[in-house]
Amino acid sequence: MFAGKTALVTGSTRGIGFEIARAFAKSGANVVVNGASDAAQVEAARVALAQDHDVGVMGWRADVANADEVEDMIAAATRRFGGVDILVANAGVQHVAPIEEFPIEAWSRVLATNLSSAFYAMRAVLPQMKSRKRGRIILIASAHATVASPFKSAYVAAKHGLAGLAKTAALETARDGITVNAIAPGYVWTELVDRQIPATMAARGMTREEVMDQVLLAAQPIRRFVTPQEVADLAVYLASDAASAITGAILPMDGGWTAQ
Ligand code: NAD
Repeated sequence: MFAGKTALVTGSTRGIGFEIARAFAKSGANVVVNGASDAAQVEAARVALAQDHDVGVMGWRADVANADEVEDMIAAATRRFGGVDILVANAGVQHVAPIEEFPIEAWSRVLATNLSSAFYAMRAVLPQMKSRKRGRIILIASAHATVASPFKSAYVAAKHGLAGLAKTAALETARDGITVNAIAPGYVWTELVDRQIPATMAARGMTREEVMDQVLLAAQPIRRFVTPQEVADLAVYLASDAASAITGAILPMDGGWTAQ
């Protein structure tokens, strides 16, 4: 489906991002995988995709919270593959704490990693997409782009921000053959969710089992986690020609969470 095209997925050494990168490789796109700090993890993801798929796979270590590193990554991908046709801004981190105890450093890190990163990446990639008159930008937001939960102030603010950024970029690019959309998943079982359980237990005075049942699965009427593959399939669809009239949309994939 995407032969000759290149998809760059931020935060793709594991979790949802890795599945998105895999889905694009499976669909014939060259892919760029990215992670922040651990070069070995980036290389492991690159090797895993390269050995299973007959496409170009590039690994690039970059902290997406740093605008210069994001620009360098997009320039390197453009040199290697001739351009970035599909940008998936997926990297994200979480911090769970009441506002009055929320460390300023954590606030800044969550905003930079989840929100500013997407702005840096689209700012760097839009000139080439505009000159080709085609492009796809997909932001991995969250159900927290439209509703809130207590103790996640920075994450909810960042994800709401991504919704506004997607809409603004969609309007700016509507006549350029480019679409910009956000996917808003509910809970997906990944390290990001696993790691927030201890802080959620502390903030709510609950056991691990109570957090799983009364916080995570209770949010989703389907009473199961969304899978990374389901999110990846939607990303592939949004990047396809069939989705060229969908732009500026915040698409829920949350098992009914935000229908309530
Ligand atoms: P994860 O923790 O499993 O993976 C996050 C990825 O981002 C990793 O590859 C990590 O190395 C990378 N990353 C983190 N900080 C980075 C940085 N500064 N620079 C570059 N890469 C960085 O998380 P996940 O659950 O797969 O989350 C992926 C995205 O999906 C995030 O934006 C998250 O907010 C969003 N999301 C997740 C869920 C969920 O329930 N898991 C729900 C809705 C939205």
